[in-house]
Amino acid sequence: MRQIIAGQARYLCSRYLYYGIYQPLRQPLRVAHRRQLLQNCTLDPDEIAALQRQKLSALLHHAYEHVPYYRRVFDERQLHPRDIREPSDLEQLPLLTKSLIQENAGELRAQYVPPRFGRIRRERTGGSTGQPITLYVDDESWSMGVATVDRFHELCGWKPGNSIATLLTRRLRPQLNRPIRDNLIDWAINRTQFHTYGISEIDAIDYLRHLGTLRPKMLFGYRSALVLLAQLAREHGHNVRPGMIVSTGEVLMPADRQVLESTFQCAVFDRYGATEAALLTTECPTYHQRHINTDVHVVEFLRDGRPVSPETPGMIVVTNLHSFAMPLIRYVLGDVGTPSGEPCECELPFPIMRSMEGRALDFIKAPSGRLFHASVFHSVLDWRRGIRQWQAVQVTADELVIQLVPAPDFDPKIVAAIESMITRHLDAGFRVDVRVVDQIEIGLSGKFRTTMSRVPGTFA
Ligand SMILES: [Zn+2]
Repeated sequence: MRQIIAGQARYLCSRYLYYGIYQPLRQPLRVAHRRQLLQNCTLDPDEIAALQRQKLSALLHHAYEHVPYYRRVFDERQLHPRDIREPSDLEQLPLLTKSLIQENAGELRAQYVPPRFGRIRRERTGGSTGQPITLYVDDESWSMGVATVDRFHELCGWKPGNSIATLLTRRLRPQLNRPIRDNLIDWAINRTQFHTYGISEIDAIDYLRHLGTLRPKMLFGYRSALVLLAQLAREHGHNVRPGMIVSTGEVLMPADRQVLESTFQCAVFDRYGATEAALLTTECPTYHQRHINTDVHVVEFLRDGRPVSPETPGMIVVTNLHSFAMPLIRYVLGDVGTPSGEPCECELPFPIMRSMEGRALDFIKAPSGRLFHASVFHSVLDWRRGIRQWQAVQVTADELVIQLVPAPDFDPKIVAAIESMITRHLDAGFRVDVRVVDQIEIGLSGKFRTTMSRVPGTFA
């Protein structure tokens, strides 16, 4: 009884103090964008297409006037932004790959960004190909990114103030201890975080017990961590009954969805996005179709440089319509998706992406039996300068090989730094061998994996 009253009090504080007062004061753009994005769901497909055209035109004019890279790209092709009226006209412009971003980093940053776009922050991301890039993100674009997440959650049935439990990794920054401020924020958001960093089976069983008492409205985490929890829940018994599950970071396969639904007896949603492009899709609660956020992006599906026909898999290429500090036009994400020609039976005005194939992240198992999610390597390696691409492979039970392809600003000293950081944070039982190589071979599947384990029996 006491627990129910405490839960209700925390909900009310979160709902009215955090989401009602604090967030509108601290993140007014995010709140305005969330409202706008939810309103967009009530438009019809033609209105969404018109909105998309208008945003695309504004972005292209800005890129032409203020971004040296795009001025050059347009001039070389004797093009002007007014020549591109429809998203399909974008094929006159070249694709933007991670390698091109690495080579043209300085020229891709806008020399002028209107003041209303706010503060500009620097971010590093590796994505599915293990090629870290630096991005410049203005407040407007950041707020739109988080607002796409807010819309996703609200359409799935979560409301501001509802409790959240997360199953993600702790980022390996120099300060490993969480500041009190972070704990206060968690309390205010009504969020409880469980870390997949170095999780053991005993930890996972403890999480199950804790989650059974918490009964979160939303359980949110990496696909592989959620599936691992479901497997242990089946083996050891549990009473975990979240209101809904949201999987992220990796593609949720139909079999995973089935395991999660049947184990935890709730609706399961798949969030697909990237640091470079916010959420690409919104999943409808009735039919569980992935609707493409065409009010925020232009998404193309290509094969050999040409758009694929509906129901055919294609390489996903995205233009984030709100990214003005560093426009990424026709950016190759490195994932594959299948566009659908059919509308969904629900009322959302956005087209559907039928299925997708994206990054698959593994856990590696340390000699001690503790499991480490691949995102640990992303936390350490994506933030390092001087790395063009990386891959972490567990070759034997106690040996890890990390391959690095150096960038021009590579400093050989980081090899020792990375070795000691990984050894310190993963597990003392590991031998870590960092190798500098010219290129990393892609496996027979043709799909690049940043992290993999060659040890049989490791959960993946
Ligand atoms: Zn739908």
